[in-house]
Amino acid sequence: MTIFYEFEGKLYANITNRCPCACVFCIRKNGDVIGDSDSLWLEREPTLDEIIAAFDAYDKEGIKELVFCGYGEPMERADVLMEVARHVKRVTDMKVRINTNGLVNLIDPSFDVYSMRYIIDSISVSLNAPDSDTYYEITQPAFGLPAYHSMISFALLAKNIVGDVTFTVVDSFLSEKQIADCQKLADDLHIPLRVRHYVTDNESYT
Ligand code: SF4
Repeated sequence: MTIFYEFEGKLYANITNRCPCACVFCIRKNGDVIGDSDSLWLEREPTLDEIIAAFDAYDKEGIKELVFCGYGEPMERADVLMEVARHVKRVTDMKVRINTNGLVNLIDPSFDVYSMRYIIDSISVSLNAPDSDTYYEITQPAFGLPAYHSMISFALLAKNIVGDVTFTVVDSFLSEKQIADCQKLADDLHIPLRVRHYVTDNESYT
């Protein structure tokens, strides 16, 4: 079971394969490995103790950042993620980032976003589209059209709490006009936008 793997000098945590979305660009449709990792399909979800034991046992020499990403939406296990992140902060000086679809408020309405303060260093949120209809087509969230505004609300709140929040879009599924509209929206919200190129062998887009 691959819980941690390295990619381009960062350590990635794969704690769940669950996700409420079915993005048209999802790397899970294109294979089951990233970089040199073994299969990232988990036969079962690792327990909190198993994740922490695997982290402690991992040779982290030279690694400066842990990214919760993996083959699924890491905030499906938000409480476990936060416990692991607290442990990482206790025993290392690594930065902690979350790559997320930004839908935790719908996935787990009891999750306290304020608990991320001083624990999570940065968050990458999948903006995916400049409007809710296009977002629904690209992301196909189980929560329907309200998902878009929930994602935007999460990003704004996280920006106030964590500070370093970035939006991402994947270029191949948007027109130039739509990407420009995403940039304008991101600028209006004072959140940087990263335009990612569609690839099939890179880190998960989550
Ligand atoms: S890209 Fe991320 S949010 Fe989209 S379906 Fe895949 S794991 Fe879920």
